[in-house]
Amino acid sequence: MPIRTPVVLSPSRAELGARCHRRHFLEDVADRRKFKSPSAAFGNVIHKGAAAWWLTGNPSEAMEAAVNEWKRVRPSGDKHSVEMAEFLMRSYPNHAKMAVNMPGVWEIVEVEKRYMLTIGSKVFSFQMDRLLTNTSRDLLTVDTKTSAYISAKWHEQWNFSLQQKLYRYGLRKLVENKTLPAARNLYTSIEGVEKKMPFKMEPHLCPNWDDEVLEEAVRLWEWVAEEDESLLMIGVSEAVKRHGKEYTDEQLREAVEEAGVKYTLFNYQDCRSYGMDCPFKTLCVEAPSQRLGILWNEFDVAPVEGY
Ligand code: SF4
Repeated sequence: MPIRTPVVLSPSRAELGARCHRRHFLEDVADRRKFKSPSAAFGNVIHKGAAAWWLTGNPSEAMEAAVNEWKRVRPSGDKHSVEMAEFLMRSYPNHAKMAVNMPGVWEIVEVEKRYMLTIGSKVFSFQMDRLLTNTSRDLLTVDTKTSAYISAKWHEQWNFSLQQKLYRYGLRKLVENKTLPAARNLYTSIEGVEKKMPFKMEPHLCPNWDDEVLEEAVRLWEWVAEEDESLLMIGVSEAVKRHGKEYTDEQLREAVEEAGVKYTLFNYQDCRSYGMDCPFKTLCVEAPSQRLGILWNEFDVAPVEGY
């Protein structure tokens, strides 16, 4: 069912919503997908393996977790293979450092734990791959990212990442509301894993964004969440107008999806990002009145885990 109120929005979904709100709304709110991105599915495989490694310290358990996830998601296409996943998981325990390139002794606070924070009438939901602390009471998040190619400039993208700024904002809020213990410094970092042989791992510590930058990031999150909510409300009022208050789930879905294809902004800048056509291109090139039929014909309702 597309209606989820209050709106729950994660950093990665906010980032997609800031790039193209239509794509985010159809994919993340209406759960319409042609297929699951093979890169995202493969990323899940490595995430599961890495999480098992940090939780157990046992390479066999890390391998088993990754292979089980491979069997569950089976990334489509020929760019990913179970052999590649096994190679990365054999290498990861030998190369991964708990706290990427931070000095000192760190220990794990949480692995893959999801937190929810209420912001206004919306819910900010975020999950950190690893949350670490040290004896100086610093807190550090580590986000594992798999990539086809890690260039010398690969790390620069993270300095502009809405997702990473929102992790830092969330961390700050968890300390302020005492969900997490008082901390001296908050850090956000990435560990990049290249999907190639030989094994290559690239650590990156994100900039020390100040509060103003984080507030700006959360305003963008709020904008995406408000756009989501207003489209959902258009859908609800349209469903009531057409069917009365006793509308069915399917009638509500139809009204919400119609709002999604008609009243979202067309963002020409993102239709071919990362060198791939956006899956919704066939729909966006047609007139608004034609799009709902294309959505129903070409896209399944396929919810994914997380928010
Ligand atoms: S084709 Fe372009 S405008 Fe349409 S949803 Fe995709 S990115 Fe947005």
